[in-house]
Amino acid sequence: MIERRIHPVVQPMAGVAGRTSEWRTQRPELFVDKCTKCMKCVVHCPDDCITLDEEGYPTIDQYYCKGCMICEAVCPVDAIIEIETLPGGDKDA
Ligand code: SF4
Ligand code: SF4
Repeated sequence: MIERRIHPVVQPMAGVAGRTSEWRTQRPELFVDKCTKCMKCVVHCPDDCITLDEEGYPTIDQYYCKGCMICEAVCPVDAIIEIETLPGGDKDA
């Protein structure tokens, strides 16, 4: 898969901050059938966790996503929803 990044934020690195999703209490779930490819979520993610797939749809890196839910807040068509996670951040509540 070709990974495309469009803004100049440095990707978090394993070993520096570790798995940065570890402390989250919620995570985003993205529905591409509602997505209009506006890329607002991509440019607003503070962790550069959202890349584009070959078709231009955003893909969220759940390993580094910290669950701030800015992507949900900026999505104009509600294509992103919030899912609660269990302590540790990698399993849904
Ligand atoms: S919840 Fe925050 S860190 Fe995770 S993808 Fe959305 S904007 Fe990025
Ligand atoms: S903000 Fe919403 S509509 Fe725009 S690219 Fe992201 S998920 Fe798709």
